[in-house]
This record gives sequence, structure tokens and C-alpha cells, in this order.
Amino acid sequence: MATPPYASVAVGRPVRGEFTYAIPDALRGQLLPGQRVLVPFGRGKALGFYLGETDVLPEGAGGRLKAVDRILDVVPALPADLVQLLRFAARHYRYPLGEAIRAALPPGLSGQDDAKEAAAKVTWFAAALPGASPEALKRAPAQAAALSYLLAVGGRAPVDEVAHAIPGARETLKKLREKRLVQLESVAQVATVREGLHQGRHRELTPGQVRAVQALREALDAGGFSPFLLHGVTGSGKTEVYLQAAEHALSRGKGVLILVPEIALTPQLVGRFRSRFGDAVAVLHSALKDRERLRAWQRLRSGELRLAVGVRSALFAPLQGLGLLVVDEEHDPSFKQEEKLRYQARDLAVVRGSQAGATVVLGSATPSLETLENTRRGRYRKLVLDARVDDRPMPEVALVDLRAARPRVPGAAEEAPVLSPPLLQAMGETLARGQQVILFLNRRGHSTFVVCAVCGHSLRCRACDVCLTHHLSSGRVQCHYCGDAHGLPAACPECNGQLLLLGVGTERVEAEVAERFPTARVARLDRDAASSAEKLTELLAAFARRETDILVGTQMVAKGHDFPGVTLVCVVMADSSLSLPDFRSAERTFHLLTQVAGRAGRGRDPGRVLVQTYNPDSEAVSRVLHHDYDGFSAQELQWREGFLYPPYARMVAIRVEGEHPEQTAAVARALGQKMARALPRAAVGVRLLGPAPAPIARIRGKTRWQLLLKAPTHAAMAGPLDAAEALLPELPSAVKVVIDVDPGAML
Ligand code: ADP
Ligand code: ZN
Repeated sequence: MATPPYASVAVGRPVRGEFTYAIPDALRGQLLPGQRVLVPFGRGKALGFYLGETDVLPEGAGGRLKAVDRILDVVPALPADLVQLLRFAARHYRYPLGEAIRAALPPGLSGQDDAKEAAAKVTWFAAALPGASPEALKRAPAQAAALSYLLAVGGRAPVDEVAHAIPGARETLKKLREKRLVQLESVAQVATVREGLHQGRHRELTPGQVRAVQALREALDAGGFSPFLLHGVTGSGKTEVYLQAAEHALSRGKGVLILVPEIALTPQLVGRFRSRFGDAVAVLHSALKDRERLRAWQRLRSGELRLAVGVRSALFAPLQGLGLLVVDEEHDPSFKQEEKLRYQARDLAVVRGSQAGATVVLGSATPSLETLENTRRGRYRKLVLDARVDDRPMPEVALVDLRAARPRVPGAAEEAPVLSPPLLQAMGETLARGQQVILFLNRRGHSTFVVCAVCGHSLRCRACDVCLTHHLSSGRVQCHYCGDAHGLPAACPECNGQLLLLGVGTERVEAEVAERFPTARVARLDRDAASSAEKLTELLAAFARRETDILVGTQMVAKGHDFPGVTLVCVVMADSSLSLPDFRSAERTFHLLTQVAGRAGRGRDPGRVLVQTYNPDSEAVSRVLHHDYDGFSAQELQWREGFLYPPYARMVAIRVEGEHPEQTAAVARALGQKMARALPRAAVGVRLLGPAPAPIARIRGKTRWQLLLKAPTHAAMAGPLDAAEALLPELPSAVKVVIDVDPGAML
């Protein structure tokens, strides 16, 4: 019969929950949270991660408790704070913890091999935590002695040194850590951040920047969790605020983590960090090679680097003494991971910040309604930058009503012109002044649907429930969901009638622009044109060097770019995302339009924006006219409250996908019944919607159904979600069920 304490272990297999193992005498006192261990599992052995001690045995485990086999690391692969964060994430997002940990670790640490390289160069330090005093340790003289030693040498010393001075101090320090009097940190002997600190030229800050930087400095000095929304209009200089806050945190020996939506798309931000901090920045993007990723992880883990700039997954970077977390463009949908552990990095950044007692800054010109609501409720403090740098004006926005522009001649094409006369005129004027133009349309390809003029048949994907897009460059029709492509038929496959190419995409805009402005240099920025990181960089660089006059593109052109030569931004059609069956479609549309409008007039010359639309009266479009974020948000929040959508409710989507339509529907119904029976009787406001076919009912030949749970809190949904989870192991293997907590896109 094993004796407590037991080891809580996350097994690196797709199994839910935490597992309990006995700790053999030989391993007692050697286990540290985050260590990789080998444990018996099923008939064999599995990689596991030690989470911590527990005195509680799971029901029924009784005398048959198996024991931890072996410890694989000296230094834990995963620092203790990340163990805590991932434990939260796995519970919240209902994902196997071991798998979540493996995904967070860099290759080389996520397997069973001993990571010798990872353990190299690391020195462990013990640091007394604020307020720790030996006074309270009268009954534990050894602990009091170790703590007194630490305080005497200034609060911090290498563990080896303490152990040399006070025999047995290694164990004693661990006890002190459990009492939260001491913190153990690993620090590399090599370069410190201060040496790498490159004092960039400081410009004079705007009054808004001064206030924001001041507030962040105070929060960093005070210590403790303090979350902020930095709401700064486009071109207000949010990056400079991040830079100065980061500098302050680093100068106080704290770690800094900056999350950005996409690094390849916005190289300017990383560039600004690099030019300010030199090589003291770890840049964590998705294109890193395995070795580079491991190296960056080790340098952060050892404390050699204390500043990381990265995409979503950098949330799990092993920074030491995290003091500042920034989420730039916090409204961006790419912070939501859409596979495996389906986390929202912005939300988890706030969790990590609260666990670490750090300052958190969520920055945006168009804060998400979730963040706005948290600010309204006083959970986050709001910092406002309401003017552009150097008092540059916000661009003037005008709408072009496409309903009026549609030709009324019988027999003429149904569609309005791609570029209406006001657009053409503005473009001509801008080009004549030697300035640059951005044209935005959130659809790639040439024609977004192909339909028969005689029988009305439209070309659709065989495997997906969507229309095919015609691409001019390849001369093919392509499905944007499964990638399937084939040649454009010469005539309607049903009746041999003439095919019409309708629905405008970026390729068509590009072609039309080239025709209208034959001397202008035109380029296109979308996933087809920027098919590799190199091409993307080159396209952006050429535009920045002003070797391109007109840039046509999808939402890729709307990101945080800072091109001073751009004085005209045209939205070819504002409505493309407005009618999607997603409760966030109005918000997304407003954000995109505001962001793309914000690319105009960032240099010396003022900017203008022209928005072509069929819905000039919709909130999402009309509020862009006066940069009216507050007005739009107030309206939209009211609607969300009325219909119980986030931020006024928590949501979970249960997505069911399967090979066979009938079987899939049956599973969805079975899940629905189970969940309905588990709905809490007393709790008000828990609603189960569906099962219903997903808005796109078929992708890659798979039938898709979904169920939606809405409730005032996550806790209120636990019952039905547990019921759904319990059913998962019994489902036929041809059906896949995913539980998506706080879902992003609803399609
Ligand atoms: P935002 O992210 O708020 O849209 P950026 O951080 O990209 O804005 O800043 C816009 C531009 O203003 C950049 O070129 C930046 O270098 C510049 N800038 C930032 N702060 C100042 C300042 N205080 N004075 C002059 N220019 C500034
Ligand atoms: Zn398809």
C-alpha cells in the first residue's frame, strides 16, 4: 500500500484528467513540478509531466497504485508557472493536459529523450520573496537559517552557494518555496539583458503617450496583477508605449512578453523592438526551425533573454520573472487557436498575468467587445490615446452607395462597377500627387462565383458546401475550403449555357486597376500572391520603398502597417463579411474597416478613405464614417445583451463532423439529448441550441453539425459538457466531436 504524498501526473496521451502515481522512496524529494517523468500506462510506459503532490487518492485506486518509474529531467522541462497556466487552460478548454503540455514545449523537450542541452548552462538561484522574514520560522531553525542567509546577502544567491554555507539547504529551500517565502529561479551565467539593452533615440511623446507610459511604470513599480486596455486610435503610437513600458520592466529585472497577431505580416513591430533592444529580443514566430525554437526556449528559460516578441503560441514562452505582458491588436481573431488546445491567447495572457502578478496591456484601436466590457466593469483600467502622433488628422471617410451605382439598363450586367467614378477620381488625384493607394477587398481570386446565364446552375465544390472561386492566374476554379481545383468549364455542365463570372475578388480588382491606370505600378497582397514568407516580405518592402503605387489586397492590407506614403484607402466592398451567420460579423466588419481606414494619412500628408457599400445605413459601415468606435460598440453591446451573446454570456460550441451524413446527424442528436438531460434545473440562463447543421454543412466531404451552449458563467455549463465528454469514448470512429470553449469563428 503506497503512502502519501502521491504524484499528480499529466500523461502525454490523448486522455483527459490528471493521474495519480505512488512516489517510490528513491524518488522522494527529487520531483519538481514540470519535470518529465516516465510512468506505467496501460500495458506499457508513457511520457508524463509531474504536476505536484497530492494527498488524495482517486476513487477505486486503492492498493493498486502504480509508481513513477523514472525522472527524465534534472531541471524541469516546463517551469512551474507554466504548469499552472496549462493546468488552467486544459481544464477551461477541456483538452488533455499532457497533450497541451507537449504542444507547449519546443521539439526536443516534448519527447522522452533526455534534453541534455536544455539542462546545460543553468544556474539555480534562490530569492527571498517580498515580506519573507525568519521571525515566523522559530519552529523550523534550518529554514530560518537558510532564509536569514539569503536576506543577509541581499535577498538572492545561487542555490549551490547557500547549500555550501548551510548543509542540507537544498531541501530546506524547497520547503521555503512551498511556504511562498522563497522563489527558485534558473539564470544563465552569460549575457544579461542590461548589456544587450540598446538605448534607442527617444522622441518626444504625445500627451497621451506620456500618461499611458506613466500609468504603466507606476503599475510595474507597484507590482502585482494589473490589467490595462490601451485604446489608441490608428497612428497614435501604441508601439512606442509598449517599448517604453518594456524598457522600464527590463530595467527592473522583470521579464517582458509581447504577443502580436502575425509576425511575417507586420515586420515593422518586431523591427522596432529589435532596433531598441538589439539581440536581447527573442522573436518567436511559427516559421522557426526546431533547433531555433529550442534555442530560444532555453535562452528564455535560463534568464539569458528576458524579452520575447511572438505570435499566439509564444504565450507559453518560459520567461523568468514575468512583469509585463502586452497583447497588441488584441481584437485580432488570430489569437484564437483553431485546433487541438483551442485557446484564446489574449484571454490566457490575462490569466498568466494574474498568476504571475504582472502588468498586462491589451492594445488596440478597435478593442474587442469582451475587453471593452471588462473595462466598463472596472476589471481593466483604460488608457486612451485619442490623437495621432504629431497632431496628424484622422483620415476623412466617405461612403459610396453601390445601390445607386448599379446600372439600370435592362440586360446589362447585374453588378455595380468594381471601381465607381468617385473611386477612380480619387485614385487618379492621389497618383498624380505621387502618393500611394491601398485597395481593400476581403475576397481573393477573380470571380467568387460562376453561374449559368441560362439555367442558373452555379459551380460548387463536390466535397464542400460552398461555391467555387475562379482564379485568373491559374485559369482554374478552386474551392477555398478544401483546395480542390480544376479547369473552368467552357460552358454550363448542366445545360451547356453560357457561364457568367460574378462576385468580385482581388484578382479582378487588380486587373481592373491595371487597365484604368496603365502607368501605375500595381501589386496584390493576398494569400495567393504572398504564397511564401519571402514573397510577403518582398511585397511589403517594395510598397514601403514606394516602388509600388497601388496595393490591392485582402485583410492582409488592414493589419498594423505604417506606410507614410499612403493617403488614399478604398474599400471595394464593405459588405462581404457583414452577412455571415456569425454573431461577431458586424464587429469584425467594423474592426476591419476601421483598421484599413487607419492605414491612410499616417505620414505628413492627410489621408482619405472611400468605402463602397450596399449597406450604407448598417451600424458597422456607417459608424466608420466618423471613426465612431464608441457609438458602434454601445449599439452592438446592447444587441449582444438582448440576445445573450458574449460578453454577456459564455459560449461553448460542440462541433460534430463525420463521414456519413446519417450517422453524424444521429451522433449530434444523441449528444443533444444527453446534454439536455444534464442541463441544470435551477440555474437560469443556460441554453442549449441545436443540434443543427453547421452554417457550412459540409467540408472535405464531411458532414458538419453543431450544438451551442450559452450560459452566464462557464461553471453553469459544466454539467452538460461533462455529459458530452462522457459520451465521446463511445462514439463511432467515423465521427469526430470537438468541444470549442469560447469559440471564435462560428462557421
Ligand atoms: P499605432 O500602432 O498606434 O497605429 P504606431 O505605433 O505604428 O501607431 O505609430 C505610428 C507612427 O508614429 C510610427 O511611425 C511611429 O514611429 C511614430 N511615432 C510614435 N510615437 C511618436 C511620437 N511621440 N512622435 C513622433 N512619431 C511617433
Ligand atoms: Zn471543397
